[in-house]
Amino acid sequence: MRVTLAQSLLAVVCCAVPLVGSATPWGEVKTPTVGAARVIGSVANGCISGAQVLPEIGAGYVSIRRYRNRFYGHPTLLRFIAEVGQAQQRLTGALLLVGDLSQPRGGLMSSSHRSHQNGLDVDVWLTQADSAATARQLMDHADDPPSMVRSDGMRVSTYWGANQRALVELLARHRSVERIFANPAIKLALCQSATAEDRGWLHKVRPWKGHDAHVHVRLACPPDSPQCDAQNPLPPGDGCGAELEWWFSEEARRPKRAIPGYPPAKPTKQPAACRAVLGAQ
Ligand SMILES: [Zn+2]
Repeated sequence: MRVTLAQSLLAVVCCAVPLVGSATPWGEVKTPTVGAARVIGSVANGCISGAQVLPEIGAGYVSIRRYRNRFYGHPTLLRFIAEVGQAQQRLTGALLLVGDLSQPRGGLMSSSHRSHQNGLDVDVWLTQADSAATARQLMDHADDPPSMVRSDGMRVSTYWGANQRALVELLARHRSVERIFANPAIKLALCQSATAEDRGWLHKVRPWKGHDAHVHVRLACPPDSPQCDAQNPLPPGDGCGAELEWWFSEEARRPKRAIPGYPPAKPTKQPAACRAVLGAQ
């Protein structure tokens, strides 16, 4: 089966659409709304009311780059981070570095992401730290941690190891996770190391450009949020065949023509309920 460039890119709504410093009203709001948490709209055109704050330090994780004020999410997301942090610490003794979640009321950010809008997305770094102090040193006062992918993009780098593999598997196996975006070389490494009998979790790990130092984790719509727009279901299978191979082709690596529908058009109509969330006291 030949998977076209456009087909592959349009199969997902992802995160790698750089936004360069265009201010949005959502970034100006400094606090969540009060009341029960409700996810509204989609990851790339939505918001969240009643978002909760991810504590800066929890068992097994450190929330980094707090100055960005993007540490808000649905309670399911916060519970997920706490659970995988503890599980990862039991496995490796290290702390997870947790990056951006959503803004206080979600919505479009001024930089870095098109998604992360409705309190269900989180970036998890693949480098881990032995203490909160090391985590801050790594993330707040330096460049990004090292890439897990070689500079030619074809395979993982020497930084990729058992801890990283264990982490991505742990994330993917969590009941609340709907999909994870990771660099194609990372997906390939996972495909090659998974056993023949136990490959079901690979399904959730979707190849995407970038995402070589962190992975992007997306939860499914929670049952308490009927206005949450679910993403299209993932295709069947472990995703280790033709679709993954395509990402290493010339067409994928050096596209020569504009890709229909990419980057996705900016949504023009925000859900009405989000306008109320933005304007609430
Ligand atoms: Zn992300």
